[in-house]
Amino acid sequence: MVTMQPDYSRQLLLKEIGAAGQAKLSQSRVLIVGAGGLGSPVLQYLAGAGVGHLSIVDADTLDPSNLHRQPIYDLADVGKSKVDLAGVAVRAINPSVVVQTHRVRFAAGNAVELVQAHDVVVDCSDNFRTKFLINDAAVLARRPAVFASVYQYEGQLQVYKPDPAHACLRCLWPDATADGVVGNCAEAGVLGPVPGAFGSIQALLTLKILLGVPGQLGGELMLLDFMNFSSVKLKAPRRVACVAPACALIHGIARDDEDLELELPSLAAASAQGLDLIDVRTDEEVATQPAPVPVRHIAMPMLLANPAQLSPAGHYLLLCASGKRSLATARELRKRGLTVRSLAGGLQNLRG
Ligand SMILES: [Zn+2]
Repeated sequence: MVTMQPDYSRQLLLKEIGAAGQAKLSQSRVLIVGAGGLGSPVLQYLAGAGVGHLSIVDADTLDPSNLHRQPIYDLADVGKSKVDLAGVAVRAINPSVVVQTHRVRFAAGNAVELVQAHDVVVDCSDNFRTKFLINDAAVLARRPAVFASVYQYEGQLQVYKPDPAHACLRCLWPDATADGVVGNCAEAGVLGPVPGAFGSIQALLTLKILLGVPGQLGGELMLLDFMNFSSVKLKAPRRVACVAPACALIHGIARDDEDLELELPSLAAASAQGLDLIDVRTDEEVATQPAPVPVRHIAMPMLLANPAQLSPAGHYLLLCASGKRSLATARELRKRGLTVRSLAGGLQNLRG
């Protein structure tokens, strides 16, 4: 069997690219946060263009409701890890691309390190929390970031660069928009081609940044409405005070993770939600006051000393007597990229 080689001839024809530009792309590293409706076209186009290294961050598994706006996936793969599937899709388009998959939440604890290891970060997330985290990591790591937000038929695009002309997200929205204020796809509804179009533009902006091609939305905010096909470009100047930490509040984000605690009537309810329970109390407490159902036990100091006991792919609910130690432990483990929550109020708060 002859192995097919990618052919970049159609883009090599552009005078802005040529052999030198193609070589530049092949040496570029791009981080894509979110392998969903925006991430699908971003991955397809960057892989097709021959960007040498693509890293994908997403902790989720494929749900049947994703498919209408995430055409890189197949119905037969529902339930599988999205980063694994996205990696397979990228390699199928272009085997010469090196793909690195991170099946973790993009979190305050891993954000800066991940962004720093790449030339550009592309925000393909669907929540403000992650967008502001990407912003802060980009400001701290001094890397360009390409943002898109979609709401029903409209959305906006913004590019941050470590350059005095480019506003960051916090320059425009100093009080970070809270999730839940504006609906995401799950609540507000969306037609697949809308994030598809925004993701395609993000891929274009990323290629322009890597190649140094003009028209990178420097210091501008672009609003597109696909209901009436209108577009507006607004000036988005950098705030004078925009320097870390003023425009990089990442450590604040780490502190107030809003969904860190989970309130539940019973431990059975946690298992029903697919959460793995971990009892972080001491050996003595577990012996004298066992949990109402059998629960895996790793005492808090042991867990903090060796977080690798938990799987990056798992969804964990930590519990202790009152919910204080489990909360502190969950906060620490999130900094290591693990998906953990804490049982609010602890065992003493359970009704069943
Ligand atoms: Zn700023």
